[in-house]
Amino acid sequence: MREGVILRCTVCKEENYIAKNDKRKDKIEVNKHCFKCNAHQTHKQKK
Ligand SMILES: [Zn+2]
Repeated sequence: MREGVILRCTVCKEENYIAKNDKRKDKIEVNKHCFKCNAHQTHKQKK
């Protein structure tokens, strides 16, 4: 069973994406578009 994780914008703290963290214990960090900032921002895994 796969675990979904929430990706949160590091700038405005909006929770924009859900990612699958397969067999990874490290926190995910990705550069994605934030709809609130209306720009690409770093999104980090919540928790
Ligand atoms: Zn944002």
